[in-house]
Amino acid sequence: MEKNQELISIVLPVYNEEQGIDTTIDTLEKFAANQPQSFELIFVDDGSSDKSAQLIQNRQTDYGNIRLVEFSRNFGHQLAITAGIRYTKGEAVVVMDADLQDPPAVIVDMIDKWHEGYDVVYGKRLSRDGESLFKKATAAAFYRGLKRITNVNIPLDTGDFRLMDKQVVYQLRQMNEADPFVRGMVSWVGFKQTAVTYERQERIAGISKYPLRKMIRLAMDGVTSFSSFPLQLANWLGTGSIIFSIGYLITSLFTTMDTIHFAVFALFLMVGITLLSIGMLGAYLYRVFEASRKRPLYIVSKTVGFRHPQSQNNHQTYYKTTIKGRAYQQ
Ligand code: UDP
Ligand code: MG
Repeated sequence: MEKNQELISIVLPVYNEEQGIDTTIDTLEKFAANQPQSFELIFVDDGSSDKSAQLIQNRQTDYGNIRLVEFSRNFGHQLAITAGIRYTKGEAVVVMDADLQDPPAVIVDMIDKWHEGYDVVYGKRLSRDGESLFKKATAAAFYRGLKRITNVNIPLDTGDFRLMDKQVVYQLRQMNEADPFVRGMVSWVGFKQTAVTYERQERIAGISKYPLRKMIRLAMDGVTSFSSFPLQLANWLGTGSIIFSIGYLITSLFTTMDTIHFAVFALFLMVGITLLSIGMLGAYLYRVFEASRKRPLYIVSKTVGFRHPQSQNNHQTYYKTTIKGRAYQQ
């Protein structure tokens, strides 16, 4: 296919995906070959303990547009995306899962919207195949809850599968947030945003790398970085319980209620509210603490396939650079 001047970067965070990574690479390369644009595939290996990184590196001999950024350990999906977009050169950047849950064909729709003048085109999930009812229900509840309590307009039912114009990527690169919630940050940045809908597929191989623990952490990062509602909640709960106790005082003057039982109930209620409020304060405080330490967000142990890796990153990280195979085409 005759190529035009446009370069699109695809960023793929990878954590223990050895079972499916070769299929992902082949599928994407086949897709890329049939498009008028050129593509670069930027894999960020997020400290995989399996052979994912090696398998990606091996495929460099087959395809010259494969780049690899290796983390020194597992820093998490959101930081893998954060790092990946800092290494991109494209006019537009697409972020997608490395398990082909996000179909490459949707990228064509995204590019069309981008050509129409949109700066962010996010993928909105119509259905989620192969995901548990629990995951679907909690995800739906979370997105709706978050929308109610934040002041940024984070679209419903979207993950991190999206296309961003390079000016949006430029803005994201300036944001140095510890524990980033990327999809919230993209909404916060603004510009012209729109959606394309798609059917989310089952993963081609392996299991989800998002256990409940990681999902809860992501949800907490979303809340604490974009909403002050839980902090205000303590005030409301406190006010509510004061009104409640005054009401109780008044009614107890006229009725005979089992005071002991009620006292126990009230005690538990108060302790619950207090602990919840302290916990919430703690979550915010931890964010401040994280930010004040000024550690690098992640550590890159190795890059493969870049010509000038250092210039891509604005962190103090140490590189062992391997530039393999053919020259990197800009
Ligand atoms: N991932 C990652 N680091 C992690 C967890 C996941 O880089 O700590 C990658 C993973 O390999 C995949 C993407 O992030 O490419 C999304 O994860 P996953 O597909 O497991 O999540 P799900 O689609 O089930 O929500
Ligand atoms: Mg997935």
